[in-house]
This record gives sequence, structure tokens and C-alpha cells, in this order.
Amino acid sequence: MLQSYPPIQAPHRLLFGPGPSMVAPRVYQAMSQPVVGHLDPFFFEVVDQVRTLLGYVYSTQNQFNIAISGTGSASMEAAVANFAEPGQKFAVLTNGFFGDRLGEMARRQGAEVVRLAKAWGEPFDPQEVRDFIRHERPRVVAFVQAETSTGMFNQAKPICEAAREVDALTITDCVTSLGGMPVLVDENGIDIAYSCTQKGLGCPPGLAPLTVGPRALDRLKARTSPVHSFYLDLQLLETFYFGHKYHHTASATLFYALREGLAMVAEEGLENRWERHRRNHLAFVAGIEAMGLTMLVAEEHRLWTLNTPRIPEGVDDAKVRQYLLERRNMEIAGGFGPLAGKVFRIGTMGYGSTAENVFLILDALEEALKHAGYTAAGSGRSAAEKVLGATTTTPNFISLAT
Ligand code: PLP
Repeated sequence: MLQSYPPIQAPHRLLFGPGPSMVAPRVYQAMSQPVVGHLDPFFFEVVDQVRTLLGYVYSTQNQFNIAISGTGSASMEAAVANFAEPGQKFAVLTNGFFGDRLGEMARRQGAEVVRLAKAWGEPFDPQEVRDFIRHERPRVVAFVQAETSTGMFNQAKPICEAAREVDALTITDCVTSLGGMPVLVDENGIDIAYSCTQKGLGCPPGLAPLTVGPRALDRLKARTSPVHSFYLDLQLLETFYFGHKYHHTASATLFYALREGLAMVAEEGLENRWERHRRNHLAFVAGIEAMGLTMLVAEEHRLWTLNTPRIPEGVDDAKVRQYLLERRNMEIAGGFGPLAGKVFRIGTMGYGSTAENVFLILDALEEALKHAGYTAAGSGRSAAEKVLGATTTTPNFISLAT
């Protein structure tokens, strides 16, 4: 039976959840370029540009900067699979969902996992971290810099310093910090850092940027047991990306997207980009507080990319989220695990982190909360405008929303 299928038409959602975030139009344009083969000289030119630009965005002199084919979890799994060895101690510091996932991945690699676990959203105490690492003397210490389940930033430096004292490598999850907050791989002494494309970099999901430092490369070369994953074996990936030998059919389209997203970071300047995220986050928080809501995370530990305001008493968060999606075409997320029904997770990240979007989110949230029975104490937009020293401008994405 013949049937006609009109071209697919996806809705232009306003993506203000924990990711994916808004994709920059320039990135979409890059993705419509012709596909080349995964061994084409042009593909390797793009790979090389991505390598250099990742060094910049990660603030590192590392040369081993690649994009793993897959989402953030693929680079997490690559980091764990290549550096966790069966029977060896692998320490996980966790205060949220993704810290726990790191531990589970290491367990599946047969490592002896030791955990320093805090409640979700509770910061690590540097002295406790040091004592734990000195006592356990693990081969690897893994932690999440920007914990997306709670909205908390974990300081890398004290953890990396303690790890070095016992000659342990550090694996740092930068999935929700790269491109929006200072990751500072070299300055913090991080050995292996990984991230995703769909948050601070303003690209669609599908690649996972990873950087590996010299200490970690030495460890990899000295490995006595084979890496249990063929697809994620970094030494095999090195022969592909840098030796130009077939390993898998990487997506040229996604590499174009990442190259473009990273070029936009470089053109804006990393410090400017962090400052943009910080200001928009501060404006958002001022707006939230003016509306009478409070933030889950203490000021000094907050992410600039992902905000976690508490849901007011008696408000059904599903109703708020449904209203935003159906009436304002806007996606935000709720909490999960111990934070289910307690917080919203609202992203101000990447291409989507603009003053206009902060106003747009606050206006829409105020309306949605009212629909769910909560009347805001004051105007979120006015408070945000004060922080940004701005008057109302035309929201960038309004034309897409209507
Ligand atoms: N780590 C953190 C901190 C994350 O927020 C996420 C996803 O949001 C991941 C890892 C996994 O990334 P992905 O969902 O892209 O596989």
C-alpha cells in the first residue's frame, strides 16, 4: 500500500531543562553540510580542529582531546572502562545521581569500588575527602564537577590534590559545566575529563568530548589487562582519530556540529562566556527569589548552567511543567530520586543563556505557578532586570514559541 509521508516537522521547543539546551542556528547550518566518509582527509581536518578547540575549552595543554561517538554516558563509560582495572581500588565521591552512576560503571568493570557518599546536594568537606583518599589509597578517584541531579558545583582542586598525594588518577565529569563554567583541567590537576555536546556547547546530543592528560596516558600504556570495551578502547580510538585507521564510522555531521559549537565558544572567548552564564544565572536567581521561591543549593555551590529552585508548598510540579510545555512550548525538568516533587531543574546554558531567555522563563514560570495555585510574591522579571541593568528587550525565541 502506497502512503505519503510529508517531511517531518519537529516543534521548535524552548529547551530550558537540564539538557539538551537550545541549539545555535549556526550549528544547525553546519549540520546540513554534505556528509564525508570517516576516513576522508576533510573529516580528519575537522577532527584536528576539534582536538585543538577542545584543548581551549577544557583549558588544557593535553593533546589527547577527542570526541567519543555517543552521548555523555559514552565518555563516562570510556573514562571508567579505560582506567578502572579488575580488582583495583576505584574511589567514587558522590553527592548525586551521576556520582552514583560512575560507581556503578566501575563496579561493572570489576573494580573494587570504595565510596565517599554524601546526601544529594550536600557539599564535600575537603578534609574529609583528603582523609578518605589517604586511608583508601585508590588507583583512581572519580567525581562529578557539575551534578545535574542537584544543581551543585563540586570543587575539583582539593580532590585532585589529595588524589595526587597517593598517585591516584582523577576522572572528572564536566557534562554540565563545559562551555558554561570554569572546568580548568590543568589548573585543577584533572587527569581525565569528559563531557557532552548538548548543554554548554549548544550542539545536539551525539558526541562526547574527552580529554586525557599525560599521567593518564602513561597509566593506559602500562595497563596489563585489556580494556573490556572494544568500542570505547582509547588506544584503538587513538589509531582512528590520530592514526587515521578505521575503527568505527564516526558521524561527520555531528563532528561539523561540534566544530561549530566550539568555534562559537572560541569566538566569544571562554571568560566572556563564563561571565555571560554567571550573570544570567544571578539574574534568574534574583527573579526566583523575588517571586518568593528559594534555591536548593547554597549560593557558593550553585551551578551557573542549571538552577534548582524549590517547588513552593502545595504546588504540583507536573502541572507546572505540563502548562509550560503545552501553553508556552517550553521544557523545564523536575527533580528525581530524593528530590522528586521538591525542585525544578531549569537550564540557563549554552546558546540559550541570554538575558531575554531569563525574562522569558521567569514570566512563563510565574504564569504556570499561578495556574498551579501559587501567586508570586513579586515580579521575577523586574528583579532580574535590576541585576542585568537592562530594560525589557524582545525575547529571541518568541517567534519560535508562537
Ligand atoms: N553526567 C552528568 C553530570 C549528566 O548530567 C549527564 C546527563 O545529563 C550524564 C553524565 C550522562 O549524559 P548523557 O545523558 O548525555 O548520556
